[in-house]
Amino acid sequence: MSTIFSQIVEGEIPARVVYEDETTLAFLDANPLAPGHTLVIPKDEYERLNDVPEDVATDLYETIHRMVPAVEEAVDADATTVAFNNGEAAGQEVPHVHCHIVPRFEGDGGGPIHAVAG
Ligand code: ADP
Repeated sequence: MSTIFSQIVEGEIPARVVYEDETTLAFLDANPLAPGHTLVIPKDEYERLNDVPEDVATDLYETIHRMVPAVEEAVDADATTVAFNNGEAAGQEVPHVHCHIVPRFEGDGGGPIHAVAG
């Protein structure tokens, strides 16, 4: 069975897509930790970063690199926490590699890890 993120890629369930290219997709998190919380995924389904081939990892990083300033600008954030929960024991709930880009604001009180653990 395909992951919920693959269903988003296939257009089977709705998402607020903010960027798309041939191999990657970025969309707003449905339960944002801050306004503008964005997820970046490879369109192909890999459970963990460890499973991602090098060319896909390069594409994924390029999209993250593009999205970080775009997200900061969109919500006027002071900073971002950019992180992967890589594996179940790390809090990964959706078994499809995804990078969290969480806008951060001076004095928001969130720690670097707690911000993405939810
Ligand atoms: P955690 O929920 O502990 O952060 P993950 O790192 O696996 O675990 O993150 C999954 C993320 O996917 C969560 O932030 C969750 O809000 C988000 N999410 C789940 N389903 C959807 C969806 N249909 N559309 C957008 N975001 C989703």
